[in-house]
Amino acid sequence: IRRIKIIDVLKREDYGSEVNVKGWVRTRRGSKSVHFIALNDGSTINNVQIVADADKFDDELIKLITTGACLSVTGELVQSVGSGQAVEIRAREIEVLGTCGSDYPMQKKGQSMEYMRTHAHMRLRTNTFGAVFRIRHNMAMAVHRYFHEHGFFYFHTPIITASDCEGAGQMFQVTTKNLYDLKKDDEGKIDYSDDFFGKTTSLTVSGQLEGELGATALGAIYTFGPTFRAENSNTPRHLAEFWMIEPEVAFNDIHDNMDLAEDFIKYCVRWALEHCQDDLAFLNKMIDKTLLERLNFVVENDFVRLPYTKGIEILEEAVKNGRKFEFPIYWGADLASEHERYLVEEYFKRPVILTDYPKEIKAFYMKMNDDGKTVRAMDVLFPQIGEIIGGSEREENYDKLMARIEELNIPMKDMWWYLDTRRFGTCPHSGFGLGFERLILFVTGMQNIRDVIPFPRTPKNAEF
Ligand code: ATP
Ligand code: MG
Ligand code: MG
Ligand code: MG
Repeated sequence: IRRIKIIDVLKREDYGSEVNVKGWVRTRRGSKSVHFIALNDGSTINNVQIVADADKFDDELIKLITTGACLSVTGELVQSVGSGQAVEIRAREIEVLGTCGSDYPMQKKGQSMEYMRTHAHMRLRTNTFGAVFRIRHNMAMAVHRYFHEHGFFYFHTPIITASDCEGAGQMFQVTTKNLYDLKKDDEGKIDYSDDFFGKTTSLTVSGQLEGELGATALGAIYTFGPTFRAENSNTPRHLAEFWMIEPEVAFNDIHDNMDLAEDFIKYCVRWALEHCQDDLAFLNKMIDKTLLERLNFVVENDFVRLPYTKGIEILEEAVKNGRKFEFPIYWGADLASEHERYLVEEYFKRPVILTDYPKEIKAFYMKMNDDGKTVRAMDVLFPQIGEIIGGSEREENYDKLMARIEELNIPMKDMWWYLDTRRFGTCPHSGFGLGFERLILFVTGMQNIRDVIPFPRTPKNAEF
């Protein structure tokens, strides 16, 4: 008899049929005459209840049915009266595939998130993390569907890159050599010509520059892959290894770019509301009681669009009225997440797209506004999180871009291939980067980015 997934068994109505399920024991309770086992196989947040008559099964076997043990159960599908589900299984045969001792780290319910993180390999088996990672999967599907439906091509940019213009200080170097074995030149600088690629290489901090090459050839592309930043601060929103989604579109200006960002996020959230109902209901109950309300609000309401300068005025006004912030706020300052969250959560009470930032706090490739001071940047700011997207219209004019590169002293010889986009048939284009985990944070209501990726990479933490 073939195994059926629990998600499918729970939908069946052919009472009396024999079925087989396999999964892990969540709980076992019972009396002298009957045992109730809640079994979960990861296919859904919901358990199937197994009813085992005590006189049919050995005491020795029942003792092995502990929380976390793995079972194969064959029995009759029966209508349920009290399990919270429509069906349950009256066991005819129970096989213990894997026993689980009392030292099982997920034995106790209600452990702290910190504890869970120290057992990232086993927390996957809990209801909360099961829900989070099923949602994560569904969101990844939504991302691909959205772009596919809108005529974007999934474009793979390299993970090992040689340009370090953007990632100053945040790059993980890639080498096959023990650093001490590499030759040094007269000035004591390491000579990488001896190394595998014959030059300094690093893990990518963004696929954007290569993405621009894709967009100016294929029209509209998106990347969706692992991204690496040696973030030396410990925050609930930064990982050293995260997944970034970066659409890039030829002929789009900053307004098209904002429309795309808003439409895309709403599509993904709507997708979750439609496809992850059970998991979201669970998280709404256990993690954050306002989760569903917030998700529905986001899909139903327009985002605020506001120039940076206006945002600063609002924040300065708040400070004048006694609102305290940890970091100073003034025109020219990069916003800290406390400022972003003030605008979103307290002032506008909805997502905000902030535009036209001072050029000094944004990257070299962003298109200059006529004022000569601000660039066509856009950050999408979300409740609980702050920045969820950073994007811009790109400077397509070769001379203007060169001037900026020289101004910032960016090493030119690494950039020749990028500049070719502006030398040969340059065109206006725009794009943005969305941190996938920040989207998952919002959609799941989880508080810490370490809890929405199976195996988080953060400073001093690469255990699992
Ligand atoms: P932040 O201000 O939060 O450090 P950033 O401005 O450095 O972010 P960008 O370079 O604009 O980030 O990258 C685009 C998006 O990638 C960000 O809006 C964010 O969603 C995500 N992101 C950036 N750094 C990280 C990180 N270390 N971990 C997870 N997501 C990140
Ligand atoms: Mg950063
Ligand atoms: Mg930022
Ligand atoms: Mg940014």
